[in-house]
Amino acid sequence: MTMVVTYEQALAIVQERISGANPLPPIDSVPLDQVRGRVLAEDVFADRDLPPFHRAIRDGYALRAADLSVLPAVLRCVGEVPAGRSYEAEVGSGQCVSIMTGAPLPLGSDAVVMVEHTRSVGDQVEIQRSVRQWENVVLQGSEAAVGARILPRGRRLQAAETGLLAAVGKGTVAVYRQPRVAILPTGDEVVPVEKLPQWFQIRNSNAVSLAAQVAEVGGAPAQLGIAPDRRDVLTEMIERGLKSDLLLLSGGVSMGKFDLVEEVLAELGAEFFFQGVAIRPGKPLVFGRVGDLFFFGLPGNPVSTFVTFELFVRPALALLGGAEFEPPVFLRARLASPCRQKAGLTMFMPARVWVQNRDPVVELVGWQGSGDLVGIAAANCFLVIHPDQTELAAGDWVDVMPKE
Ligand code: AMP
Ligand code: MG
Repeated sequence: MTMVVTYEQALAIVQERISGANPLPPIDSVPLDQVRGRVLAEDVFADRDLPPFHRAIRDGYALRAADLSVLPAVLRCVGEVPAGRSYEAEVGSGQCVSIMTGAPLPLGSDAVVMVEHTRSVGDQVEIQRSVRQWENVVLQGSEAAVGARILPRGRRLQAAETGLLAAVGKGTVAVYRQPRVAILPTGDEVVPVEKLPQWFQIRNSNAVSLAAQVAEVGGAPAQLGIAPDRRDVLTEMIERGLKSDLLLLSGGVSMGKFDLVEEVLAELGAEFFFQGVAIRPGKPLVFGRVGDLFFFGLPGNPVSTFVTFELFVRPALALLGGAEFEPPVFLRARLASPCRQKAGLTMFMPARVWVQNRDPVVELVGWQGSGDLVGIAAANCFLVIHPDQTELAAGDWVDVMPKE
């Protein structure tokens, strides 16, 4: 009996099964300059107000906004405060202090007038424009107050997050250990990239693209080699793969006489959560568990392998790595040319999106089906066609999933 589910059901099953079972990975303490792409294992709090003082965001004059009720106003400049210094005295009524971007607002002042709206002669400054109270100032603690949680556990650390960690003085960060992902391509016709294939053989491209995808989600790929379509060797190699944190198989999950992956997994005591998803490409996708270890049996066609990883393995791996659930996000674009599809499947077709008259426009790339790596390399997104969208006209708004 095979269990075929819809795209939405499959995603929900992956989320439920993995977040239900998932003990969090061990924690590493890592220097800030090495955490990009890793998953935060601690809540991080502001160690001081952000900004730490009322900060000028323009070059100009710090003054009292109330002093500008009659324009032009003439104020006396009593000092200067560049970034990295402080002005210690209080600014009184009728006074101003020359201030630069990034400097702390002097006591007594409550706004900054841009230098462009002033004229200075000696210590007299003529102000030509009024300002609201706190104009051109960011108030102390307005971005985050001291003690506020600025990053939650489970957040993936990209460039912006590392900058924020630096801003609160986190030189060393607690991150989750990267899940080890075993990659096991199967197929008698599949040969290593270094080897010159015979005319009926195929190079092992899936293991390479999968390793790159695993690394992108913060996993550590481990290549197990290529399994032949033979029960005994396949069993042995799968058993080796079951020692990692996640096992990815490619190939051998269709209906062919030598598609043995599911049989072997079943003999090893696998529990299957689904054995087919109503999507194209990628329909034969399998998801299950042997003991504590989750596995995906990805269809061998390179585009199917790639797409099923993006749709299901990517969010699964994020969860296994201690990250927040990160389901695929669909954006909207206008269809360039009409499109007809069979009902009942969710399609993910290699496509290109670009901007035309401020609207995103999407068009399918020419491709020869789910084996076509050339086609997918030419794509920058997937056009998503839902099961009920059998007829789409040029100009219709459709869903698009970015490729990376
Ligand atoms: P399968 O899912 O085993 O029926 O394979 C489907 C198609 O994908 C076949 O044309 C295979 O030759 C191809 N294929 C399987 N494994 C790989 C691989 N590791 N790299 C590239 N192509 C593969
Ligand atoms: Mg095969």
